[in-house]
Amino acid sequence: MLKIRNLQSGYGNLRVLKGISMHINPGEIVAIIGANGAGKTTLLNTLCGIIPLQSGEIIFNNNNISNTSAEKIVQKGCSLVPEGRQIFDILTVKENLLLGAYTLRKKLNHSSYDYKKILRNEIEKIYSLFPVLKEREDQLGGTLSGGEQQMLAIGRAMMARPDLIMLDEPSMGLAPVIVNDIFKTIIQLREQGKTILLVEQNAKAALNIADRGYVIETGQIVLEESSEGLLNNNDVQRAYLGKDYKSIDEL
Ligand code: ATP
Repeated sequence: MLKIRNLQSGYGNLRVLKGISMHINPGEIVAIIGANGAGKTTLLNTLCGIIPLQSGEIIFNNNNISNTSAEKIVQKGCSLVPEGRQIFDILTVKENLLLGAYTLRKKLNHSSYDYKKILRNEIEKIYSLFPVLKEREDQLGGTLSGGEQQMLAIGRAMMARPDLIMLDEPSMGLAPVIVNDIFKTIIQLREQGKTILLVEQNAKAALNIADRGYVIETGQIVLEESSEGLLNNNDVQRAYLGKDYKSIDEL
């Protein structure tokens, strides 16, 4: 579904990503783990067209999207749930969700009557995934709890009907019980046919639900393995996992 070859990008003269190559197969959950400042957010922002790439190639669903705008990339089926949620505080839950469908109209090219029906259906799908969002439909985004905001950020990304959802640190700042709920939701999204790229500092939780993982250090992939292999790798355990990590059955 996604193939990246020798990707380089950064900010001005600063080169953060120094030749990243990786791939994601349809239906996979792939985790990217790495320390603060390793380049994880830069990678996701480059993949979704927010940061221009300096060199390399990104192939998504057999299309070369290396120099494609963020809007077009969303339209092609790749959505980002950004670091820190980036909810619009002064818009309601429903308005935040509708914004997520901004590119859907162009993608579907339906009459306005059909389009309203489609939007209603999409919103209902999000509400069945996150019932609390239905209860809060008219509440301002800025007044939601951190966990509710994360659900809203995921729902907003889903509104574009993506094939690939990229999540940047969804567990950040959330209580463990909420983190478990969010990770269970990610499993549900995969069961609904979505492909997931998950960036996490919470390596244990990410590898517990992922099929494979990549370890990124100072802008380079230093390890690629099955999640099981990474969880059992001594270097990974020392650098990124505490001693007593929980298995998926305990989540
Ligand atoms: P974290 O887990 O802390 O978010 P990360 O792995 O996501 O870290 P990035 O946010 O991609 O790392 O940052 C990688 C490097 O790029 C860091 O050295 C950071 O200081 C630098 N950087 C990030 N954003 C910018 C920016 N807007 N301008 C200049 N440098 C930046």
